[in-house]
Amino acid sequence: MANHLPPAVTDQLREQLDGRGWRLRFPEPLESEYQEDYAKRYQSHVTLAMLLGLVALIACGIGDWMWMRDRYSMMWVIRLAVCIPMLILFMLARRPSSRPWLQWLILLDAQAGALGILIFAGMALPPIRYYYEGSILLVMLVVFVLSRQQFWYGLLSAAIMASMSNAFILVIDHSDQLVLLSREFILCFGMIFVLTGNFLIDRSLRQHYLQMRLLDLDNRGLEATNLRLQYLTAIDGLTMIANRRALDSSLSTEWTRALRKKESISLLMIDVDNFKQYNDMYGHLAGDSCLRDIASTLRPFARRPGDLAARYGGEEFAVILTGTQESDALAVAESIRNEIVALSIPHSRSSHGAVTVSIGVASMIPHASHRQEDLYAQADQALYRAKRSGRNRVVATGEFRA
Ligand code: GH3
Ligand code: MG
Ligand code: MG
Repeated sequence: MANHLPPAVTDQLREQLDGRGWRLRFPEPLESEYQEDYAKRYQSHVTLAMLLGLVALIACGIGDWMWMRDRYSMMWVIRLAVCIPMLILFMLARRPSSRPWLQWLILLDAQAGALGILIFAGMALPPIRYYYEGSILLVMLVVFVLSRQQFWYGLLSAAIMASMSNAFILVIDHSDQLVLLSREFILCFGMIFVLTGNFLIDRSLRQHYLQMRLLDLDNRGLEATNLRLQYLTAIDGLTMIANRRALDSSLSTEWTRALRKKESISLLMIDVDNFKQYNDMYGHLAGDSCLRDIASTLRPFARRPGDLAARYGGEEFAVILTGTQESDALAVAESIRNEIVALSIPHSRSSHGAVTVSIGVASMIPHASHRQEDLYAQADQALYRAKRSGRNRVVATGEFRA
């Protein structure tokens, strides 16, 4: 089957897929396209995660009331102060124009949340402090799993959070070494686990994207091939106008339409005169070329949407004229005959010295008792009469024009 895909794009996608994607970065412009698609796909996840973060921040105010009643109002001031940047980031993340910056917005949101937590931890005393600090891992889960922060941004996020957390431990917290060690241990391993999961998710999302792109390209290739096949099955290979199959199907459609609308439909059957002798005289190749010229002459006569010029078979052609009654169809047929004479294709064995055609015209307003074949039969009969009466002429059903 013919392949219409741009090979460079498919090759690049396949290459990336085979490369297993450990770098988590595609070459441009694929990377930009991926980022755009990613942001579009997960924007709603990001905003949901940011909203949940905000809700959690406010809801945890209940903890302040339970554990730190003496600093309750101060804690709320801080909570609301942290809420403001998070709310701004949430509003920004909702806008389609922010999509290119979505990963940075998640990163900033995460840092705001983590900083807030560390400030709360600093205000609390052990062991409550450790609970506050531990919730940094929860922030990470929200960031990496729900917000779908990509790995490299996630790594940066985690590094900033770890640095902030350690700075906090060094500057504010002076717990004994065993406690510090165990908290470092939990923080480190928590981050390693979360980041490993994040890395694998990021990688499989990228591979999924490549597969989807390839599938999409394959589908487009199939569609193009299908269209081409449809075209090939409807077109006559020699004359490049509609073939018999397309003629039958078109006539059937237009017949039904004419029946429904009670409209007239006309069929012209066109036969090249003395064509056997033309072939004998000038050869088959010249005969083929003559048929092509005649087909090209017929094509523009199919003017309305349902009209069709087709090769019926051999040296016979047909033209469907929709919404056309007999007098108009006769005029069209006469124009066709004249144009073919005007082609002046030499034919020494014809009494006119040039190639001519005979045309049979049939017109009907279809009725339920009629059959589509009746139209063919009548046009054929008229054609036969045109031949019998000397060729190079047009005859309509029931009418004989000398
Ligand atoms: P009439 O005026 O009665 O139609 O005579 P005619 O010679 O045209 O009719 P006939 O049916 O005897 O001959 C038709 C000829 O058309 C015979 C055949 O070789 C030729 N023909 C049919 N298809 C093709 C084609 O694809 N290419 C060529 N070159 N000739 C074809
Ligand atoms: Mg014939
Ligand atoms: Mg003929």
